[in-house]
Amino acid sequence: MTSLHLYNSLTNKLEKFESIDPDNVRMYACGPTVYSSPHIGNARPLVVFDVLFRLLKKIYGNATYVRNLTDVDDKINKRAFERNISIKELTDEVIAEFHKSTDQLNVLPPTHEPRATFHIKEMLDIINLLIKNEFAYVVEGHVLFRVKKLDNYGQLSKRSVEDMIPGSRVEVAPYKEDPLDFVLWKPSKENEPSWDSPFGKGRPGWHIECSAMSSKYLGRQFDIHAGGQDLIFPHHENEIAQNFGAFGCLMANYWVHNGLLLVDNQKMSKSIGNIISLDEILQKLDGEIIRYVLLSSHYQKTLNWTDQIVNQAKLALDRFYGALSSATKISDDVDFESKVAAALCNNLNTPLALQRLMEITDQIYKTDDQQEKNRLCSILKKEAEILGLLMRENWFQKDAKLSEEEIARLLRERTKAKSERNFQRADEIRNYLLDNKIKIEDTKDGPIWKVILD
Ligand SMILES: [Zn+2]
Repeated sequence: MTSLHLYNSLTNKLEKFESIDPDNVRMYACGPTVYSSPHIGNARPLVVFDVLFRLLKKIYGNATYVRNLTDVDDKINKRAFERNISIKELTDEVIAEFHKSTDQLNVLPPTHEPRATFHIKEMLDIINLLIKNEFAYVVEGHVLFRVKKLDNYGQLSKRSVEDMIPGSRVEVAPYKEDPLDFVLWKPSKENEPSWDSPFGKGRPGWHIECSAMSSKYLGRQFDIHAGGQDLIFPHHENEIAQNFGAFGCLMANYWVHNGLLLVDNQKMSKSIGNIISLDEILQKLDGEIIRYVLLSSHYQKTLNWTDQIVNQAKLALDRFYGALSSATKISDDVDFESKVAAALCNNLNTPLALQRLMEITDQIYKTDDQQEKNRLCSILKKEAEILGLLMRENWFQKDAKLSEEEIARLLRERTKAKSERNFQRADEIRNYLLDNKIKIEDTKDGPIWKVILD
């Protein structure tokens, strides 16, 4: 197989990927803050890095993927207060819904999915190390990271420290040694969640949780750190700073970031009212259609979500599934060289990978040789699997008017009628199914059915 190349945001270069330990490639991605369903922009990294996870497993046979859940955050406190439920009730509910959504998107569960609030001890351990190494200081119940102590702060976001200094109109907390210093630990008010610490009752800042959970499950230095490009500054920059300050090494060798998602060329915002939440859109569209749309643009580019692109995705999937339904046998055991994997090895070129699926599909429609059809369909299914597509058993069923069981029963009755030479009954059944948009095709392995599409 061609070797994997990824665009590394740390070096701003397309680089050949070399794992620290090819027997266990390790990847971390920042997961959702669980106060409500994520919007489709946040679904993009879930799907893109799921493809990367699948690819790594295919290339290396083994990969460890950690995606965290941020379950301590002011937005969570606010939402729980508004709904008059406990923080635990809210986060448990949102996490359960989130898992339902990721399943519908065919996103594989990561190897570990740690929750921030289960790792307060690990966070405090790193904070203590940072204090010991003089990269952090305690003041008025806060622990702050001392940014000036780092020579290369800004290496990921390519910002100079001078550019980062907040303008004079921004009020800087008086206890900070320097305006750039960021929070590792802060005191909690009475109605806010809090944990005991050597610095008083309080709660962690956001950035420290990713350093704590990644180092626990992946080690202090790992291969790939992924996330949306909006996380580069300050979140990922601060994760790098924390790991360097505590452990003296670079957190991850490859930093991979996905681009923004726009809706009809606009940024999603509350004021425009164009935010599309994932659970809302999943009630209208099959998760594979959403997944297809999210993979239809290269992950580094801005993706523009429109009705047109959704329709194109649906048509493409109808065509793939239509081709698959012409197979009389799909074999798991088929020998071929994966063109989809080759496309993905080139910095996750998902548009090209989808193009490869279309090419196989064209060949399936062209050939009249059933054995060749079966072979090509087996390849199509395997190729699509790397992209997490074509996983549905009954794609057309959602358009059909009869239940699967009812169709199967009628087909059995028709076969029996034919064997008894009762052709009138056999034709009646055929016509009844046609009225219900079901077309029967007789093959040497018995009858198969398809939904007639409008
Ligand atoms: Zn993070």
